[in-house]
Amino acid sequence: MDIFTKFKPLETAFNQLISFAPHNPFGVTIEKTLTATVGTINGKETLLFGTNNYLGLSQSEEARKAAAETAMQYGVGTTGSRIANGSYSLHQSLEQELAQFFNRRSCMVFSTGYQATLGMVSTLAGKDDYLFLDADCHASIYDGSRLSQAQIIRFRHNDADDLRKRLRRVGNINGIKLVVVEGVYSMFGDIVPLKEFIQVKKEENAYLMIDEAHSFGVFGEHGRGIAERENVEQDVDFIVGTFSKSLGTVGGYCVSDYPQMDKLRLCTRPYMFTASLPPEVIAATRENLKIIANRPELRNKLKNNASRFYHALQNAGFQTGPDISSVVSVILNELPQAAHFWNRVLELGAYINLSLPPATPDNRPLLRASIAAAHTEEQIDRLVQIYIQAAKDVGLTLN
Ligand code: PMP
Repeated sequence: MDIFTKFKPLETAFNQLISFAPHNPFGVTIEKTLTATVGTINGKETLLFGTNNYLGLSQSEEARKAAAETAMQYGVGTTGSRIANGSYSLHQSLEQELAQFFNRRSCMVFSTGYQATLGMVSTLAGKDDYLFLDADCHASIYDGSRLSQAQIIRFRHNDADDLRKRLRRVGNINGIKLVVVEGVYSMFGDIVPLKEFIQVKKEENAYLMIDEAHSFGVFGEHGRGIAERENVEQDVDFIVGTFSKSLGTVGGYCVSDYPQMDKLRLCTRPYMFTASLPPEVIAATRENLKIIANRPELRNKLKNNASRFYHALQNAGFQTGPDISSVVSVILNELPQAAHFWNRVLELGAYINLSLPPATPDNRPLLRASIAAAHTEEQIDRLVQIYIQAAKDVGLTLN
C-alpha cells in the first residue's frame, strides 16, 4: 500500500467526470480578466458568471489605486501573524470601519473567510458545549466544529422546528448552545428564515451566529445582510463574513457586541497561527467597503439582474432554487448530464460553477451561476440563451 492508495476512488471519480466534461470543471484557468464580467479562458473571451464578484468590486478603480499606492508605501506582505508583527494601523482601521459599518462594538479581521468561520466556531464552542449546525452549512463551519471538540448536532436545513426539537432534546447542560446558520446558502442561493430561528434561540437560551458570506453587500438597506433586512441584528450574537465576494478582495471578519471579544485574539488559532492580510489587500478592502456604504444603486442593479435571470430560467422550464439572490442554481438529477451541460456552457462562451455531491444539498448536481451588479442585461439574456442551447445539446427536457 502506498501513501496515495486511499485516493484511488477519487481518481476514478475524477476520470469519469472529465470523460463527460473534458474542460475539467475544477481546473479552469482564467488567463486574463478584461472586466469584472469578461475574462479569457482557453484563449477565448468568456462571460464570467461563476466568480461571486457580486458587486463587481474586484475591479474597482478606487481599490486598485489604493492597493497599488499602499504596496509602494508599505510593501506587499506583513510576514507575520496579527499577534506578532502582522498588525498594522491599516488592519486596525479596517476593523474599526467594519465595526462601525455594522454598528457593533468590535470586529476581528482574519486572513480568509474560511479562517473567520473556522476560528470563531472552533473557539466559541468548547468541549462542554453543543453546536447546532444547519445541514447545509459551509465546509468551514463543519471543519471549525470538528476543531472545537464540542458536541455537534445537525438540524434540517432552514427548519426552525427541527432545531427547537433538537435543542429541547439536549436539555440542560453545563456548557453553552451555539446555533450556526447562513444568510444566503451558497449552493441553492436560498435564504434563511432568520426570524423563526431568532424565536427558537430566545426560547431555548442559545447563542446565534450567522455567516453572511453571500448576503453581505447584497441584502439590507445598507448592505449589512439578511439580519439587517429582517430587522433582527440585535438578536444575532456573532456575524461572520468574507471579503472575497461583495468586497472583491480576500479576507474575513467577525463582528459582535460582546466586550470580551478582544480576548479571542489570544486563543483563536486560525487568527493567531497564520500571517495577516497584506497591506494592499487591506487598503483595497477599505475602499470597497466605502463603495458598499455609499452606492446602494449597486445592490438594486444586482437584484434586478438576479431577478431577470431567475425568472427567465423559470419561464424556460429549468428547475431553480426557491429564492432569488445573487446565486441562481439550476438543479439537475444526473451527474453525467450536469457535467456535459457545464462543458457545453463553457464552449458556448460562459463560465459558471458545477457543484457536485457531496458538497450539494440532496446529493444532486447543480449548475451554479453567480450574478453581479456589473453584468449588463444583454449578458444576462445571452446566458439564458446559452442555457437553452446547452439543454438542447445535452438532451435535457425542460418543463
Ligand atoms: N462561508 C461561506 C458560506 C462560503 O460560501 C465561503 C466561501 N465560498 C466561505 C465561508 C469562505 O470564504 P473564503 O472563500 O473567503 O475563504
